[in-house]
Amino acid sequence: MRTTLEENTSHWPELWQAAYHLLEQKIVEPQLKAWIQPIEFISSEESESGLKVGLAVPNDFSAQWIRDHYEQDIQGALEQVSGKHCHLEMIIRHRPTDTSFDELGETHRKESPAPTVNTRETPSINPKIEQINQDNALNIDRSYTFENFVVGASNQFAHASAVAVAENPAHQYNPLFLYSSPGLGKTHLLHAIANHVLSKRSQARVAYVSAENFVNELIESLQRQKMTQFRSKYRSGFDVLLIDDIQFIAGKKQTEEEFFHTFNALYSSRRQIVLSSDRPPKEIDRLEERIRTRFEWGLVADIQAPEIETRIAILKSKAERDDIYLPDEVGTFLATHIKTNVRELEGLLIRLQAQSSLTGAEISLEMARQELKNVVNDDGNEITVEFVQETVAKHFRVKTQDLKSSARSKSVALPRQIAMYLIRKYTGLGYKEIGQYFGGKDHTTILHACNKIETQFAQNPETRQLVETIQNQL
Ligand code: ADP
Ligand code: MG
Repeated sequence: MRTTLEENTSHWPELWQAAYHLLEQKIVEPQLKAWIQPIEFISSEESESGLKVGLAVPNDFSAQWIRDHYEQDIQGALEQVSGKHCHLEMIIRHRPTDTSFDELGETHRKESPAPTVNTRETPSINPKIEQINQDNALNIDRSYTFENFVVGASNQFAHASAVAVAENPAHQYNPLFLYSSPGLGKTHLLHAIANHVLSKRSQARVAYVSAENFVNELIESLQRQKMTQFRSKYRSGFDVLLIDDIQFIAGKKQTEEEFFHTFNALYSSRRQIVLSSDRPPKEIDRLEERIRTRFEWGLVADIQAPEIETRIAILKSKAERDDIYLPDEVGTFLATHIKTNVRELEGLLIRLQAQSSLTGAEISLEMARQELKNVVNDDGNEITVEFVQETVAKHFRVKTQDLKSSARSKSVALPRQIAMYLIRKYTGLGYKEIGQYFGGKDHTTILHACNKIETQFAQNPETRQLVETIQNQL
């Protein structure tokens, strides 16, 4: 006998609810959100061989993915809670995947609820898509919004462009290409666009991916012969696709090829593409010309280092949000010394906060002075990544551009490693972030360089002297 939700609404959602609870403990959050939450429990049917459970999933792609990755887990969870042998049946919940963003906007303009999970409530079996809440936001960080982005002259244009795109995706500016040195808010703006789009149209399918993850996912798909899924995911799975640190794909031939087709597919079906990079399209070395041209099709906007007022405002806003008591003089002091990287500025604030809660003393100017010593030189100037790169390049008479390149010749390899080591030492940036200052190199490259120089520093007097000479110039 077939039991449907209509006949037995109270019981079956409970089954799914309990199963979901088990899955929650087994599957990590991003995956859970991306794949399990959107599943809708449809029906279950008793048969001689056990329980046949009908589940609805958003599209072919997720059906395949769930089958490959989570079917056993889901089945296991259902069996555990029902005490019966379970057999899964997945159906596709059809959605207007062929409509462009425009049309989607029209169709859904009136609805307001943000995407929520409905697996815990009685799912409504309603053929109308609008009623189905699902998790259509992939990797979106809800904490980065336009509201908590401080606007100043340095980022005004990028901010306005981002707002325009978020208000009207795929209308005027496609792609939107944002670039700046690290730590100035690109990633923040990308997520802010996503959050804004979702707040206006909860059904929009929005995805954020770092270029590095895009590459990794591509490699994995190739190895596992899952290219069909990869393509359907990126070429037609989203209305807004945000790819961070796109310079990372340069020189990776197959990735460039795949990206090219992804771009074309999205662009021609009027989906919004937003890209970020550590430099303008023209300066991305070893990038295929046809891709570079496409980067420039829409709007290219840069973010400059913020001026002092903006730096102070950012600190204040961050302190307020995190409930940190920050005296004005300390804010001004920090903002005066840290000029080129908001992440560093925030990092200092967090370190001060940690100190304050460890010692029980309020954040003071003296505390800030002590903390700042680690990141500035004797003259009180901030030691920036660029400054280290320039100093090292000058010392070895090479171009800073060469340090950032992937040339392997000995004449640049050692200077590059020394630069990486000193940047790590003086800026305290993470390996991954440092990699971004060297043309998007992998964090393992930076790690390796730092280890190598450190070892040589200890064992080889010549290297030690060399590094110390350069250090004295900082
Ligand atoms: P990028 O991607 O350019 O390297 P991020 O977006 O990661 O930089 O920004 C680094 C940190 O600085 C983040 O925590 C971000 O929220 C913060 N930040 C940068 N610019 C601003 C701004 N204008 N207002 C508020 N926070 C900012
Ligand atoms: Mg970033």
